Amino acid sequence: MEDLGANVVAASSGDEALRLLLERDFALILLDVQMPGMDGYETATLIRMRERTRHIPIIFITAFNRSEVNVSRGYELGAVDYLFKPIVPEVLRTKVGVFLELHRKKEEVRRQAELLRQAETREHERQLAEARAHYERSLLQQEMERERKVSEALEQRAQELARLVQEKEQAQSALHESNARLRLLADTASRLLKGTDGRPLLDSVHQHISEHLGLEVCLGYLSREGNGPLELTAHSGISPTMRERLERLEPGQGVAGKVATEQRRWVLDAGAAANGPAPDAAPELGLAALACYPLISQGRVLGTLAFGTRTMRTFTEDELSLMQGVCDQVAVAMERERLIGALREADRRKDEFLAMLAHELRNPLAPVRSALEVFRMRMKQDDVLQRTIASADRQVAHMTRLVDDLLDVSRITRGKVELKPVSVTLTDLVEGAVQACEPIISQRHHELSVSLPSETVMLNVDPTRMTQVVANLLHNAAKYTPSGGRIHLNAERQGNELVLSVRDNGIGLRPDMLHRVFDLFVQVDPGSDRAQGGLGLGLTLVRRLVEMHGGHVSARSEGLSKGSEFTVRLPLPAGPAPALAIPHMVKAAAATAHKLQPLHILLVEDNPDIRETLRDLLELHGHRVEEASDGRSAVALVLSQRPQVALVDIGLPELDGYKVAELVRASAGGSDTRLVALTGYGHPEDRKRALEAGFDAHLVKPVSSDDLSQVLKKLCTAA
Ligand code: ADP
Repeated sequence: MEDLGANVVAASSGDEALRLLLERDFALILLDVQMPGMDGYETATLIRMRERTRHIPIIFITAFNRSEVNVSRGYELGAVDYLFKPIVPEVLRTKVGVFLELHRKKEEVRRQAELLRQAETREHERQLAEARAHYERSLLQQEMERERKVSEALEQRAQELARLVQEKEQAQSALHESNARLRLLADTASRLLKGTDGRPLLDSVHQHISEHLGLEVCLGYLSREGNGPLELTAHSGISPTMRERLERLEPGQGVAGKVATEQRRWVLDAGAAANGPAPDAAPELGLAALACYPLISQGRVLGTLAFGTRTMRTFTEDELSLMQGVCDQVAVAMERERLIGALREADRRKDEFLAMLAHELRNPLAPVRSALEVFRMRMKQDDVLQRTIASADRQVAHMTRLVDDLLDVSRITRGKVELKPVSVTLTDLVEGAVQACEPIISQRHHELSVSLPSETVMLNVDPTRMTQVVANLLHNAAKYTPSGGRIHLNAERQGNELVLSVRDNGIGLRPDMLHRVFDLFVQVDPGSDRAQGGLGLGLTLVRRLVEMHGGHVSARSEGLSKGSEFTVRLPLPAGPAPALAIPHMVKAAAATAHKLQPLHILLVEDNPDIRETLRDLLELHGHRVEEASDGRSAVALVLSQRPQVALVDIGLPELDGYKVAELVRASAGGSDTRLVALTGYGHPEDRKRALEAGFDAHLVKPVSSDDLSQVLKKLCTAA
């Protein structure tokens, strides 16, 4: 078979054949049927069982002839042919050749199929690669598209941001600008509110606004009367010669005069010049741009304000409205100043009127009081008359008290009250006040209790004034508590303070009135039945006097009908208590207990009513009275008649009471007569002045019978 070109592998048994079949591929198996051990059929059965070898054609070789051999078995086992021994070489070669050729063809077909498969695979792979490439390309495109969009969006966003930043910057600078403007307006407003007037006011506004707007020239005119000439009140950036020329403008004259007459602003700048006539804004000033505004308040032109520059420029709307705003503010401030001035003047006149009123009301009270005293002494037997007189006397006392309060308030508000602090004990002070209120407390059947510290408390106060404070509080407690009420005065030391309170169980105060009751003329429900007659002055006096002493007063109440409590806190003097120095007048009454002898008295008074009633009163007490109605005759009478006592009115025409005392004291023999001053005021400074002029004592009109007796007793006992 070698010339068939085949590779022949020989095996000597079925086993070996099977082993060889495992190792390599064969085109044909020539299998001997008769073999020791495993025969050809068995071997073929095993070959057919293996997947790898199942299809290899098998040609059985047998020594038996066709009839003897089980040919069909062989074919069942997949044999393709039989070769019968003795082998005919040509047959063998032909048959083998056929199978070899078949194998080769099969191989070729397989190879071709393989090639085809490979080609198909390659084509498939190519297509796959192409599809993938296409897919990737489209992915890439999509990606690129997306990125393009993103970058577009980013670009847009960036532009937007840039725009926003720009807008923000613009807004910020606008804000900055408007802040500066607002600040300027606010500054101007606060400067104006500080209440300077005219020139300084315009000066400060000028300077401020010129700096802000970069304007070199400012001119402020004020008109004293409406529509009158304008006077240059404030200016900057002009020469002295120019100032002289512009000092006064008649209505309608120059830009300011026109603005004042027409009551309209006048603007000339680059913008206006472009549309209108050539700039002629005060050409002598060399101004290229100018804005002039009228200062108008309540329809009245108070003046004008002009702002200018020598550089040609256009005023923005903002700048114009800023200038307008400032001018409006100036006008309002000037009007406000004018009103405040008018109010102050009215207030001053009111104070003067009150002082005058009190003074004038006080004078007629003196003779009325003295007259009542005369009646009371003459009509001792007549009960009805006595009661009427007592009632009239109470009314006069009440009126005197009101007038005194009015006088005090007007003197305090005009700063005319000076305190004369001395060292006094708390007990004396409280006693004085309680005594003063005794009549109203007993008349209204109140129960008054007083608690004071057991140790002596020294105060450094003006005794008259502090007594007045405590008496006012007690008086109010009695007034604003229904009959049969309870009033408690308590005073104690708290640290460096004296705390004195007056509590009552009366009508009480609403919370909103607790602070207000201390204000001038304030009364809760004036005119209602709560009002008890008064002018709303008492607590004002209390507060002013306490504050003048460095103290503080407050009111407390649980509400209406729950009573009230007024508390005064006063600083206590530092260091050990100084020696007791109570004004001698206070204690004088106690020292003069014994009966008074009839006296020779000269009465000097220019008011005939007062003179007559006082004379009657003195004569009722058994004194011998001479009269004088002016200073000169008074001096002459004292020196010629040498009366024991001279009662001298201070307010005499020409030669006043002080002068009379001085002349008497300066004359030979002028020291024998006791001199008593009669004044309208009970203020310590009046007393002091009287004593300095040479008086021995001082009585306040209207003079009561008791006061008169006490002073006379004291003087004559001392003599
Ligand atoms: P006046 O007593 O003359 O009206 P005041 O200044 O003394 O003036 O008091 C002001 C007002 O305060 C009074 O009108 C009264 O309404 C109220 N007031 C003062 N003291 C008391 C008090 N103890 N209880 C209730 N109300 C009071």
